[in-house]
Amino acid sequence: MGEVVIIIDETKSSKLRISRCRICHEEEAESFFEVPCACSGTVKFAHRDCIQRWCNEKGNTTCEICLQCA
Ligand SMILES: [Zn+2]
Ligand SMILES: [Zn+2]
Repeated sequence: MGEVVIIIDETKSSKLRISRCRICHEEEAESFFEVPCACSGTVKFAHRDCIQRWCNEKGNTTCEICLQCA
């Protein structure tokens, strides 16, 4: 006679957080992304390759949202 206790390890399941690249809008784990500037929330993550491509097209490395250099 004993109670069955189910323990859910929340620290493990919440480790892999999915975010979206603000440039190509692909979803991946946050560890794949760079945080190039002072933006926060959903627009703060982007692939390093995407940032580079974006900067080349623009001709500068300044974020147009927060105006901080990438
Ligand atoms: Zn991307
Ligand atoms: Zn920014």
